[in-house]
Amino acid sequence: MTLKTMLVTGASRGIGAQVALLAGRSGYRVGVNYLRSDAAANAVVQQIRDAGGQAMALQADVGQRDQVRRMFAELDAAWGALDVLVNNAGILANFRVDDVDDDNVEAVFRANVFSSFFCAREAVRRMSTAHGGKGGVIINMGSVASRLGGLGGGAAYAASKGAIDSFNLALAKEVGPEGIRVNALRPGLISTDIHDVHGGIAKMQLMAKTAVPLGRAGDSAEVADVVLWLAGDTSSYVHGTLIDVAGGR
Ligand code: NAP
Repeated sequence: MTLKTMLVTGASRGIGAQVALLAGRSGYRVGVNYLRSDAAANAVVQQIRDAGGQAMALQADVGQRDQVRRMFAELDAAWGALDVLVNNAGILANFRVDDVDDDNVEAVFRANVFSSFFCAREAVRRMSTAHGGKGGVIINMGSVASRLGGLGGGAAYAASKGAIDSFNLALAKEVGPEGIRVNALRPGLISTDIHDVHGGIAKMQLMAKTAVPLGRAGDSAEVADVVLWLAGDTSSYVHGTLIDVAGGR
C-alpha cells in the first residue's frame, strides 16, 4: 500500500516538529520543511526513520516563492505525490506600530501569510481534481491572536493571523468542489520557543495560569493531535472551519 504524503512547513521545532513526528507514527511519509535549523530538522527525520517511517528534510524559506517552487520540485522528484499540506511555519513579532519598519512587517507577512499562499498554490496544482489530481487536505495554522489582538507589540502578528482566518475560508470555497478539504487551527498559548521574543516560555507559562481557563499553557503534541485528525478521514465533513486549540481562552 502506498503511504500518504504530508508536507509540514516549519517542522524542525515546536508544533511543526510534533506534527511531523505524529504523522510519521501514523503512517504518513513526511516532508520536514525548515528554514535554518538543519540539525533539528534532521533529528526529526531520523526519529521518524528510526521508528520505521519515511521522511525527508526540505530546507526552504517558505516566504520566498522560488524556494517554495524548488521545495515542491524536490518533493515531486522523491515521492511524486502530495496528500496533505500543513501550512505551519510562522514567526511571532514584538514591535509597536509606531516602531514598525518595512523590513519587520514584511518579514512577518512573508513568513506567516505569503508562505501559505505560495505553498497552497503549489499544493492545489498537484491535488485539485481540476488539475488532474486526486484531492487532498490543506491545514492552515492560525492563532487566537486573530480575535484577541495578540500580546502587546503583536499587531503585525495578529493581523497576519487574521489574514490566515480569511485565507482559510476563501480557499475552502475555492477548492472544496475540487476534492480538497481546507481547515485551520487557532492555537492559544503553546509551550514553544516562539515565545522568546516576548520573554520566553517560563514567562508565558506563568501568564497562562491566569489567562487560560484550563489554567495552563498547551503542549505542541496537543495541537498535533488535532492536525492529524483534520488530515484524516474521520474529519471528512469538516471543511472551511477554524478550530481553537486554546484551553478555552
Ligand atoms: P517555533 O517553535 O518558533 O517554530 C517555528 C518553525 O517555523 C521552525 O521550524 C522554523 O524553522 C520554521 N520557520 C519559521 N520561519 C520560516 C520560514 N520563513 N520558512 C520555513 N520555515 C520557517 O513556532 P511554533 O510555536 O511551533 O509555531 C508554529 C505555528 O503555530 C506558527 O504559525 C505560529 O504562529 C502558530 N502558533 C503558535 C502558538 C504558540 O503559542 N506557540 C500560538 C498560536 C499559533 P527553523 O527552526 O529553521 O527556524
